[in-house]
Amino acid sequence: MAESSLNRSASFAGEPARFTGAAPIRITNVRLTELHGRFESEGDFWEERLVRPLDVYPEHKRDPDQHIPKARDVDGAHDLSWAFVTIETDEGVSGMAGPIDVPDAFVIDTQIAPFIMGADPLASERIWDQLYRYMIHGRKGSPMFALSAIDTALWDLKGKWLGQPLYRLLGGPVRTEIPAYASALGFSIEPERAAERARQFVAEGYQATKWFVRYAPDDGEAGARRNVELMRTLREAVGDDVDVMIDAWSSWNVRYTLDMARRMAEYRPYWIEEPVKSDDIANYARIRAASPVPVSGGEHEYTRWGARDYMKAGAVDIYQADTMWAGGVSEMLKIATICSVYDVPLIPHGASVPVNAHLSAAWPPPLCPYVEYLVKWNELRQFFFKNPVVPVNGMISPPDGPGVGVEIDESKVTAERELSWREG
Ligand SMILES: [Mg+2]
Repeated sequence: MAESSLNRSASFAGEPARFTGAAPIRITNVRLTELHGRFESEGDFWEERLVRPLDVYPEHKRDPDQHIPKARDVDGAHDLSWAFVTIETDEGVSGMAGPIDVPDAFVIDTQIAPFIMGADPLASERIWDQLYRYMIHGRKGSPMFALSAIDTALWDLKGKWLGQPLYRLLGGPVRTEIPAYASALGFSIEPERAAERARQFVAEGYQATKWFVRYAPDDGEAGARRNVELMRTLREAVGDDVDVMIDAWSSWNVRYTLDMARRMAEYRPYWIEEPVKSDDIANYARIRAASPVPVSGGEHEYTRWGARDYMKAGAVDIYQADTMWAGGVSEMLKIATICSVYDVPLIPHGASVPVNAHLSAAWPPPLCPYVEYLVKWNELRQFFFKNPVVPVNGMISPPDGPGVGVEIDESKVTAERELSWREG
């Protein structure tokens, strides 16, 4: 071959590559919109709440769920409201994320929106890093929820600008469908009803289901027996081939968790989730070292640095960061890398199933064997979507439209309110 197609001979002979970094589009507006709709359900939609860390105080032990039902009774109807953030540009293309809660909308409107006005929305890594440095107290909690929403809206925008679904921007598809597990938050844990629901999930095609215990150390031996009874009931209901998980929502302690793990072990829980508080990383590691049942956690932890601390401590067998809480799509990619080098699967917590469907479609199966699908919560979280991402035969797939690919169904919106706390 006389002339290489790789043009080797031209090395150093041509024009040097140019880099201008010029932004083809600019952010012109960050809009926060609260949508209201009428949520219909038969009977009590929320049948049972989970155990909570605050339950150690008798005056709070019988509180209703602090987050849910999100739908408030107004004049006999359930008024459901969620906020969404939309980033607009001078080229007309926009990106949306949500639902989010009003405190996160406040952070976006008052801190983030003024800061990112005029920025290049495609340079999402730059915006993330600048906001992280700017909001120096914002490493966890509501400010990180706000940053997560902004980052996710930027990825939606990027997809819409390029005309490609998010999973393609992330290097996918690695696979086109991902197993979802049926997460039974809000379902009754009365043994007969729980068994019936669990069998129903299996009939719908789910290969795994997670249930939320109601009893903690201060409920004594009677509560402990009922926790074990729930696990036994579920195992007997679904048979040997379906994975069953148990979630303690940060409400147990080391001794109690090890007692539960040893007594539940014969029914083979796939994992025990969040046995202790998220800051108790050393105690996670103690539990994991001694437990016959795998331990999971991380939905209430944030960013790559939180994931690093869990991994370095050997705290969990499965990590469960939430895309919409831990830092958005950009941060989940970093968290996934950290988990992968520690050989710890990342099974995202389910605040945004549409976004998680894209991420997991771009990840190898061993890194992400399941995605959480909170059966009841998604009826609320995805209420306003024209095309909600719902498991079919226990599997989810990302939408094929550009960006995240979910659209608001205007017919569901009974009222709309712009949220703004800024002057003018
Ligand atoms: Mg959980």
